[in-house]
Amino acid sequence: MIPRLKPAFGASELLAALDVFRPHAVEQFESGFAELAGQRHAIAFPYGRTSLLAIFKALGIKNRDVICPAYTCVVVPHAIVISGNRPVFVDSEAGDMNMDLALLDEAVTDETAAIVSTSIFGHPVDLNALDHVSAQNPDIPLLQDCAHSFFCDWDARPVHAAGLCAFFGLNISKIMSSIFGGMVTTDDDQFADSLRSARAELIAPSTMLKSLRRVFYLLAVYPAFTRLAYGTTNRMERSGLLNQFVKYYDPGIIDMPSDYLESLTPVEARVGLAQCGAYPDIVRHRRRLARIYREGLAEDERYRLPPDHTGCTYSHFVVRTGDAEMLCERARRQGVQFGDLIEYHIPSMTAYADCRSFDRGVSGTLPGQVINLPVHRGCHEADARRIVDLLLSDSGS
Ligand SMILES: *Cc1c(COP(=O)(O)O)cnc(C)c1O
Repeated sequence: MIPRLKPAFGASELLAALDVFRPHAVEQFESGFAELAGQRHAIAFPYGRTSLLAIFKALGIKNRDVICPAYTCVVVPHAIVISGNRPVFVDSEAGDMNMDLALLDEAVTDETAAIVSTSIFGHPVDLNALDHVSAQNPDIPLLQDCAHSFFCDWDARPVHAAGLCAFFGLNISKIMSSIFGGMVTTDDDQFADSLRSARAELIAPSTMLKSLRRVFYLLAVYPAFTRLAYGTTNRMERSGLLNQFVKYYDPGIIDMPSDYLESLTPVEARVGLAQCGAYPDIVRHRRRLARIYREGLAEDERYRLPPDHTGCTYSHFVVRTGDAEMLCERARRQGVQFGDLIEYHIPSMTAYADCRSFDRGVSGTLPGQVINLPVHRGCHEADARRIVDLLLSDSGS
């Protein structure tokens, strides 16, 4: 079966994981990541969400409003709440599904301490419009959530470099991965110093036990995503047997993983460093498959395609359609798994019912409409063409 996602791990990542005598792995990963980003500093964390806690601590932001998109990964508002702040949600633009920047203008008040802008699914946020918001509010730090987009750009301007800093999530569902992990990049020396101090106060050193757990996780994940095994993985996932590993939220609960304040392990850092080298190839492949889907589906009115921007990096190739669930089921019977990310609307969750939300009724309609087609390296160009045929064929057949 072709899985909806597959970490781009190969022999070099496995060898890197086992290369236990390499010293200073975390620092090396940070330098490699900074170089890839073209930024002065990269600072590593155990999770992307943990990096947000440290960013707020470094900036002294507490008991204030932090604006973020209504349609994003739920761990972002979780981190805002756990840092002692209040999320304020802003609806999406219908086209690229990023935060509606006109509405963002309305959402900013004296209580706003920071703005989290997300380039969802790897669709670059409109930096010209964002420049306008920043010019109106020069004292409000802009944080780029690049967990989906990594190094995408808007008209040749890198999104991650536009603002005070960018943060990244590096779990196995991301474009590149350090097993788990998070990273912050910035060109601001003073902020980098404060962030390193905040990290030292907040985060405990990792233990040997955590490193061992990560090695076992990697060794389990590696075969589970092969085509041969994935049918079984998928059946286990659908039966709920894997919930412990794949279920990452509950609509009524705001929480963090138990080891969120324990440092990124050297194992993860070594795998992450190997992935820095693989990144250009990974994105080239994603763009190639995106082109096949785009050209194949352009004429079919049942599907609404993502924005066609040369800077897209496609953490997900998202198609919107009337009956996502039926299509996912039909694809599954033909040996292809589609994703349904993001399948929730955060302001509608019970845990966030009392938060302020600027809504024009767009993001609430996205869950149930979006499907993501595979763009990982385990899906070849011929597979992508077969997926196009599957989508073009009539549902009755
Ligand atoms: C994955 C992700 C993060 C960070 O996730 P962690 O699991 O905490 O590393 C942040 N924002 C978005 C949009 C994400 O998808």
